[in-house]
Amino acid sequence: MFLEEKLRVKGKDYIMTDKIDVIIIGAGIAGITTAYYLQKNFPDIKYKIIDSRSAVGGTWDQMRFPGVRADNDMYTYGFSFNPWQGPIIGKGQDIKNYINDTAEKFNIKKNILFDTKVISSSWKINQWTTKTNHKNFTSQYVIFCTGSRDRDKPHLPKFKDENKYQGKIVHTQNWGDTDYKDKNVTIIGSGCTAITMAPSIIKEAKAVTLVQRSPAWIINIDSHEKSSRRYKTFEVLKDYISSRFFKKSLRKRIIAADPYYNEATTPSYDYWDQRPASSLDQDYFRAVESSNVTIERVGVSNWETRGIKLQNGKVINSDVTVMATGGNAQLLGGIDIFVNDKKININDTSWYRGMMFSGLPNLFAHAGYINFSWTARCEIVNERICKTIKYMKENELSSCTAKYLGEKSKPSIQANYVLRAMDKFPNRTYKFYQNYFVEYLIFKWSKINDGALDFKR
Ligand SMILES: Cc1cc2nc3c(=O)[nH]c(=O)nc-3n(C[C@H](O)[C@H](O)[C@H](O)COP(=O)(O)OP(=O)(O)OC[C@H]3O[C@@H](n4cnc5c(N)ncnc54)[C@H](O)[C@@H]3O)c2cc1C
Repeated sequence: MFLEEKLRVKGKDYIMTDKIDVIIIGAGIAGITTAYYLQKNFPDIKYKIIDSRSAVGGTWDQMRFPGVRADNDMYTYGFSFNPWQGPIIGKGQDIKNYINDTAEKFNIKKNILFDTKVISSSWKINQWTTKTNHKNFTSQYVIFCTGSRDRDKPHLPKFKDENKYQGKIVHTQNWGDTDYKDKNVTIIGSGCTAITMAPSIIKEAKAVTLVQRSPAWIINIDSHEKSSRRYKTFEVLKDYISSRFFKKSLRKRIIAADPYYNEATTPSYDYWDQRPASSLDQDYFRAVESSNVTIERVGVSNWETRGIKLQNGKVINSDVTVMATGGNAQLLGGIDIFVNDKKININDTSWYRGMMFSGLPNLFAHAGYINFSWTARCEIVNERICKTIKYMKENELSSCTAKYLGEKSKPSIQANYVLRAMDKFPNRTYKFYQNYFVEYLIFKWSKINDGALDFKR
C-alpha cells in the first residue's frame, strides 16, 4: 500500500517515503523483463516501476518517425516468456503494444507509476532512497532500466548558420507531427534509423536527398522468413563470431554477393563493428532507385536559407531536414547517484559484468549488446540479478558491491554513440564480454561470490 503523498506538519509539507523491496526505473523492455523475473523468483516481492512517460514501452513509445521498426529478428528480440506472434521484423507501434500486453498479462502494470521522474538515488544506512518529482521511496535494491540514450537530448551535430535556415529541422527521436508529404526532404545520416525510415519518406515526399557521409552495412531481411528463437540465436552469433575471425574474407564475400556495394557504398569499418542496418524485402534498395532520390556521399558544410550546403559546394533545397544522426549515450538515465552523501561520477567506476558499478551497493543496471538482441541480454542479466538476491537472502547479507579495478581500458563497445560519450561510461569494464553465448554460460555457471563482489551483513 502506498501512503499519503505529503504530510503537513506545522504548515510545512513533508514528502512521505514508501519502503519497498525493489525500485525499478523504466517501463521499457528492460523494466518489464525485470519485473517478470522478480515476480517469478520472489512471488511475495514488493516492487514498483517508475517511469516519466505516460505509457509502457520506453523506446517504442518515444520513437514515432515514419517506418519505425526493429532492426533485428523478433524471435530473439521478443520475450522468451511471452513469444512474439507477429512477423520477423516488428513495427514500432506493434512492439509497443506487445510490451504493454506482456505487462498486462503478467500483472505487472498495476505496479507501474507513470508520469513520475526520478531525480536522484541515494544509498545510506543500507538502503536506497529514490527521489522523484512526486514522492520518495526507500528500498533495498534499485534496478536501472533506463536504456542507453539521453531521451531528452539526441545527438544533433551543429552546422554553421543554422539560424539562417527557414525550413524545419527535426531529429528522429523527437518526430512530433512533422509533415513531409510533397516536400523536399533531406535525411542526414546513414545508420539503422536513416535506412529504416528512407523508404517511407521516399514514398510520400516530393524529392529526397540522402546525405550519407560514411556508408553503413545494410542487410536484407525477408519479411516472410519463418525461424525459431534457438536457430536465430545460433545464426546471429555464428555470423558475428565469423565476422571477428575472418574480417577480410567476410567483407569481400558480402561485397561480391550484393551489387549494391561499390567504392562509395562500402563502409570503412568491418562488418558487425556496429549493428548492421536492415532493409526489409529490399525496401531500401528499391526505394533509393526512385527518380525522386539523390544520394550524396559527402558531409554538410553549412545551412543556407532554403536548405544545406554540402562540403563539395552543392546546395540542397530542403523544406524538412531530418537529422537521423543517432542518440547521445547515457547510463543510469542521467539520474544523480549518491553514496553516503557523495555524488558519484560513473566515469570513476568499474563496470562489473555490464550490470553493476563499483562502489554502488545493491544497484543493478541493464545494458544491451550491439551484436545481439537487447531483450535476450535483459533476460540473462535478470536471472543473474535474482540469483544474487537469493544468495544474499540465504546468507543473510544486506549489501553487495562490485570492487573497483582502477586503470582505464578500451571500451568493449565500438559503436559511435558510445565512443562519443566515453567520459560518461565507467573507466574500466570487467567481466563484460559483449557476447551472448559466453555470457549465457557464465551467468548460469559462475559463482555469485566470484571474488569481484564485496558482500556485507
Ligand atoms: C529505432 C530503434 C530500433 C531499435 N531496434 C533494436 C533491435 O532491433 N534490437 C535491439 O536489440 N535493440 C534495438 N534498439 C535498441 C532499443 O533501445 C533497445 O532494444 C530497448 O528498447 C531498450 O529498452 P530499455 O527498456 O532498456 O530502455 P528504453 O526503451 O530506453 O526505456 C527506458 C525507460 O526509462 C525511463 N526513464 C529513464 N530515465 C528516467 C527517469 N529519470 N525517471 C523516470 N523514468 C526514466 C524512460 O522514460 C523510458 O521509458 C532499437 C532502438 C531504436 C531507437
